[in-house]
Amino acid sequence: MKNKYFINSHQWTEKDINTVGLPRPWAMPKKKGLAKKVPIPWQSEDCFKDGHLGLNKQNEDLIYKNDLCAYCGIKINDIEITIRWKTYNLLLINNYFRWIYSDIHPFHIECMKQGRIFCPYMKTLIDEDFETGTYKKLKQNAINDVIKSKELRNEKTIKKDLQS
Ligand SMILES: [Zn+2]
Repeated sequence: MKNKYFINSHQWTEKDINTVGLPRPWAMPKKKGLAKKVPIPWQSEDCFKDGHLGLNKQNEDLIYKNDLCAYCGIKINDIEITIRWKTYNLLLINNYFRWIYSDIHPFHIECMKQGRIFCPYMKTLIDEDFETGTYKKLKQNAINDVIKSKELRNEKTIKKDLQS
């Protein structure tokens, strides 16, 4: 049952911009194709009154820099086993188009499991669309792809926002 993901949780408000961990605060999107109640990831905001899940740009920018899970906001250790989406179109990844950089960053295993239940796109993917491995290794794979996607678009800011 999907409801188990909301036990001891509460409805997302602006005070939750920095609420980390599981369970995630939730929102009620009233949108076709979405569950009645959906968890709000740490790098997102409830903008469903405007019809969509919003991006919390400030948190998004910290994910690579501080080794954070985009879903729960908790720091991941180098040796932790994580999971990462790997079958995306590199041209569609940047902070302004279809996918954002944190979408291809490693997640905690449980966090990705929830993401795959509630995100209407992730839901359509199969296990082979993902790779698992230590955070250290998967983060490097993600960084390599962010660099590649920037090169494909000739962005001048390569690496700049990935390294502090
Ligand atoms: Zn997490």
